[in-house]
Amino acid sequence: MEPMFTPALHRQRHQFVIDFVKRKKPKKVLDLGCCECVLLKQLKFHREIELLVGLDIDGVQVKKKMHGLAPISTDYLQPSYDQLRIELYQGSVTEKDARLRGFDLVTSIELIEHLTLADVELFSEVVFGYLTPEAVIVSTPNSDFNPFLPGLVGFRHIDHKFEWTRTEFKSWAMKVCLQYGYEVELTGVGQAPPGQQERVGFCSQIGVFHRLGGKERYNMFDEDAEDVFSYTLLYSIIYPSLHDNNILRRVLMCEVVYWADKLKRRWTAEETGERDDTDDLCQAEGEGGECFRASERHVDTEEAQTACGAEMKTLVDQEEEDGELFWRRGQPDSDKWRRCVSVPLAVLWCCCPKVSVLSGSVSNLRLLLMDEPGVKLSQDGSAMLLNHQEQDLDDDESDDDEHRADLEDSGYADARQCPPLAEPEEDWEANV
Ligand code: SAH
Repeated sequence: MEPMFTPALHRQRHQFVIDFVKRKKPKKVLDLGCCECVLLKQLKFHREIELLVGLDIDGVQVKKKMHGLAPISTDYLQPSYDQLRIELYQGSVTEKDARLRGFDLVTSIELIEHLTLADVELFSEVVFGYLTPEAVIVSTPNSDFNPFLPGLVGFRHIDHKFEWTRTEFKSWAMKVCLQYGYEVELTGVGQAPPGQQERVGFCSQIGVFHRLGGKERYNMFDEDAEDVFSYTLLYSIIYPSLHDNNILRRVLMCEVVYWADKLKRRWTAEETGERDDTDDLCQAEGEGGECFRASERHVDTEEAQTACGAEMKTLVDQEEEDGELFWRRGQPDSDKWRRCVSVPLAVLWCCCPKVSVLSGSVSNLRLLLMDEPGVKLSQDGSAMLLNHQEQDLDDDESDDDEHRADLEDSGYADARQCPPLAEPEEDWEANV
């Protein structure tokens, strides 16, 4: 049998919510009767949402799929600046809980018909009178449409306590608006057959409520609100974000190490006349490539300034005073020679757009690197010092500690240390 709706009706209901979220960009969203978290799993990709909460009376249903809300590997590998916390609670919409107050959007998709009419009254009081969200989306079956559902006898689901006509839904919605200070727009999803829309309306009727009086109204209710906590927290997760200083440092360090090594190879290859394998990659870096080439020529000050901005000048000048990007050092008690590569921070900042975005400025970059135990900076803090190739060293001396010790011996030990930066019978609900 051909599906009656394309996309399926439950998808259309969820898409209705998603379209609303795209338009209104709510930061705090609560899904009542979240069941197996299907809608929440879609909403978590809308990163303007900072707090996403689900509530259902059936904790077993919630627990079945809740781990699908956890961050995936890319959320850790490429954290964004956006912040997201997800919480799931077990509890009834007929009971109050202060943790769910003050949301921008509350959704109740195919929930109210599972409540007795007495509980619908409590639902109204809790949602509109206590939680007082700025917007509420309520969807429920439109019984005017039922004659079009093939094979349907009685209600669309065995657990439904009622199914309202459009008139009954409108009457409830208007009462809620008058009682709790909201306005409502009545619409729906699931188009009727051609020529019947006007007569029977949508398969799922939807009311979109907006609180009158804006944010002040919430504050007014706030004073008198009871601090009740009746729900049980089942799940809570905070997504990795670059707002977390530790995560920011980790991501920045990966970029810095990658780019510093690339520059080192490039310069080394240039000196030895060998082809550098990373060359092609470098050329593909767009603006960064410009800076890269500038640094190749021991940094053409004017060119670098144009590309990187005024802040670079001082540092570039200092580097030029040092004269060499490669330098040698002999140990007094050894006949071995060490070669180190000095990578100016200004060049690093300029070459890698991500480094510049994450650090904000060359001086911030310096401060961040000064606090990294694995990083060695030049005495004036303007450059990162990397040991040259392991081939210059005996095998047993090629580990990082040796490298660091070498650099310390070389008179760069007193590079300044700075404090860290502040800073789912026939299920019409699911299948049509
Ligand atoms: N909103 C989901 C599922 C709707 S089915 C969707 O869009 O697909 C209705 C859900 O409401 C079920 O998961 C049921 O457990 C839940 N429910 C029923 N009575 C409830 C109550 N008093 N409080 C909270 N959730 C309730």
